[in-house]
Amino acid sequence: MSDYSQIVPIANKIIKKYDLCDHCLGRIFSKQFRSSSHKFLGKKLKNGFESKNKCYVCKNLFHNLDYFLKLMLDSSSNFAFKTFGIGIVIKPSIIDRDDLLRSKYQLKGIDGVKTAVAKELGKQFSKKTKTVIDSLDPEITFTLNLKDELCQIRSKSITVSGRYIKSHRGYSQKQKSCDNCSGKGCRVCDFHGISEFESVEGVISQFIFKKFGGTTAKFTWIGGEDKSSLVLGSGRPFFVKIQNPYKRKLRLIDQKFDLISICNLKLVNESPKKPLNFHSVIKIKISTESDVDSKSLKKLKELTSVPIIISEKSGKRSEKKILDIKYKKKFKNEFTVVMTAEGGFPIKRFVTGDDVLPNLSDFFDTPCLTPEFDFLNIIVK
Ligand SMILES: [Zn+2]
Ligand SMILES: [Zn+2]
Repeated sequence: MSDYSQIVPIANKIIKKYDLCDHCLGRIFSKQFRSSSHKFLGKKLKNGFESKNKCYVCKNLFHNLDYFLKLMLDSSSNFAFKTFGIGIVIKPSIIDRDDLLRSKYQLKGIDGVKTAVAKELGKQFSKKTKTVIDSLDPEITFTLNLKDELCQIRSKSITVSGRYIKSHRGYSQKQKSCDNCSGKGCRVCDFHGISEFESVEGVISQFIFKKFGGTTAKFTWIGGEDKSSLVLGSGRPFFVKIQNPYKRKLRLIDQKFDLISICNLKLVNESPKKPLNFHSVIKIKISTESDVDSKSLKKLKELTSVPIIISEKSGKRSEKKILDIKYKKKFKNEFTVVMTAEGGFPIKRFVTGDDVLPNLSDFFDTPCLTPEFDFLNIIVK
């Protein structure tokens, strides 16, 4: 730590040559004095000396921060948050003059003017809003352009998990993207990426946007189903990541909509990184071209002891297991199968025989028609 009496002559020399505001002068000597308030230190070093002109470095920017503080307060008024970060843009000429002065007097290890402005604004904003600066992982981040007087704000995404039950047919799982932006988000779709809400995804998104605000909602589904399929039991799990939410912490309760209901809603850290291991209990209504006798139906059980091999056009092959299979005969050419299979089981292709071995059309030696199927339950392992 330097002696105050040694610093004063140097400070005097500098302020005789350059008009500096309290903030900028104090900042220059902040390392020697380990002073947390540049303004206070600058004032002390000036010892009553009044600059006639605007500050050589910042052109009195530090005196005009109220305006930018108000910009920050206005743009964040809709957001609920406890921590924030600031990135700022200032006129390059301010930084140039600051660099010049610092190199001329060999002032090392002190904050640059840009950092000092950001810190000062952060300090004031934090005091006003009772929130905390967090430069590593803030809940909201300001990008404040002091040059063009613009303030942008981004809030950290949140992720909600839940399950949906589809008790009526007619909704697809996924929503078609906005025609105008293909899902990226634009003015037409209010930056949601979707402009209609007629699917499971649409209905959940609409609820989420109403509750949390936000721009786009990105879904991770634990399996999928047809538009005509029901999803019963405890429902299908999903994760939804909400970009730019206004709110971050809310009590979530089960919701009932026309065709679906959602339950088990909770905030989680993130969507799963790896696909989740799950089993589906599926009810499949199958009709065949020729009649199927009871003897063949009884043999369905054998399918639980062999892997079901799925081949893709790309040459990729995968395997899924059937863990349990039961049937109920209705007519000679119509029956219902209830089976438990590994998640992602290709139900339609297994029935019709499209590059899946074994498959039911081969098994019964008669074409099985494209089935209707419902999910009775989805069990996450
Ligand atoms: Zn200044
Ligand atoms: Zn759009």
